Amino acid sequence: MSQSCEAFEQGHKIELNVTDLKQYLYCPRIPYYFYVMPVPRPITYKMQHGVQEHVELDRLEKRRGYRSYGLTEGKRLFHLQLKSETLGLYGKPDLVITYEKKGVTQYLPVEFKHTEKGLFTNAKYQLAAYAMLLEEHFQVPVCEGIVYQIPTKAYNIIKITDPMRKHVKDSLSAIRRMMLEETFPEPKSRSRCTDCEYRRYCNDIY
Ligand code: SF4
Repeated sequence: MSQSCEAFEQGHKIELNVTDLKQYLYCPRIPYYFYVMPVPRPITYKMQHGVQEHVELDRLEKRRGYRSYGLTEGKRLFHLQLKSETLGLYGKPDLVITYEKKGVTQYLPVEFKHTEKGLFTNAKYQLAAYAMLLEEHFQVPVCEGIVYQIPTKAYNIIKITDPMRKHVKDSLSAIRRMMLEETFPEPKSRSRCTDCEYRRYCNDIY
């Protein structure tokens, strides 16, 4: 990062959403198209039906026991709005389960994903970012979270490690740098372009 950008970022931390991080790690061009060179956002089937699906998921989740999460009891917090001034980050995890351990309240972030394939790393870092927001908000370590794959009903336990926390911070800096310098980024992987709703804007993809 150039010195001027670094100074600017420190003085004026650009606030980002956790979904910006998720999308950046999927392909950096997506937040570029949102923040730097705004284009009309293509409406996908997922976006059209996403809200209704989440309402249904919340309803089903309320009827589920806690055993699937390895717990005997707990409490569910849906769509908790979290914000960190330190990270310049805000977001709303799908679900946070709270439970008691040795007299201390613990927080377990849960994300629901509509994928049968293996988890993309961006989903893991999205969870790590929510863990970091919870840590700052509630002042307790959050050492793991869960990505629930809806089609397969698989519960994936993700350990939140210090290298993951560092990667989240580094990625947030990289997004801000891209915004300040207005650099058009290279794609993460061109194999992802086939199913991408932004494909029409990437003229270098064949
Ligand atoms: S089409 Fe490919 S390069 Fe363009 S935004 Fe989508 S994934 Fe990125």
